[in-house]
Amino acid sequence: MKSGPLLRAEGLVKRFGGVKALDGATVEVRPGFFTLLAGPNGSGKTTLINVVTGLLQADGGRIIYGGRDITDLPSYERRRLGIFRTFQTPRLAFKLTVLDNVIVGYLQNEKPALGGWEKRERELADRAFQLLKIVGLDHMWDRPAGELSGGQMKLLELARAVMSGAAVLLLDEPAAGLNPSLALDLFKRLRDLAKTGVALLVVEHRLDLAIDFADYAYFMHEGKVVLEGPPDQVFKNPLVAQIYLGE
Ligand code: ADP
Repeated sequence: MKSGPLLRAEGLVKRFGGVKALDGATVEVRPGFFTLLAGPNGSGKTTLINVVTGLLQADGGRIIYGGRDITDLPSYERRRLGIFRTFQTPRLAFKLTVLDNVIVGYLQNEKPALGGWEKRERELADRAFQLLKIVGLDHMWDRPAGELSGGQMKLLELARAVMSGAAVLLLDEPAAGLNPSLALDLFKRLRDLAKTGVALLVVEHRLDLAIDFADYAYFMHEGKVVLEGPPDQVFKNPLVAQIYLGE
């Protein structure tokens, strides 16, 4: 491991009536790491993401971010601290160019500057362009975002999140609806994006597709993390097949 965890969700519990969606789950994410959150339908993956972002309040456990207990912070405060998520439908400005969409991410956080804007604008454009290169969209930089494919829009959204100061990115099934070859391409891009230093936590039930790109994997079942480790080792564990077959 290159460095310690940036975020640790510890012993999370979340109940919906009689259902224990999370039953003591613990996960960690590290800067520069693509961490996979796998498990069958209903195992608690989305609930875990929702609790970490603050969309849902946990019934037990705690969330430590950068050494600070953020369990009781509202979601907008967590976002301000750098914990971002993406949604199934990308939220982009479709008429603005691909490059402008990335820059807008930064401007959302920028305090109004009085002078030197031209230089700043060039710097921001350079940085946005670098991010577009990493997600493989640099050749589309001057096209309206509305012309991108669904997978490309997701990548653009991620580049914008990093530009806005995301330190932790939580992605719920980013490859949903993509065919296996596009899904592989997306995971490769996610790995490259993680290498810039951002901590990625990615929900994906097709463990086999993400295996070559993720650095670490958690496998959930019935609200608990039942396996964790290098993705290929987790995938090979007989418990995985057993749990999927028992679904
Ligand atoms: P996954 O993302 O792994 O498919 P979820 O986190 O969506 O799993 O769901 C975990 C469990 O919690 C499931 O049994 C699901 O039915 C239940 N659940 C999730 N959200 C709600 C909700 N808002 N109300 C009631 N039950 C829920």
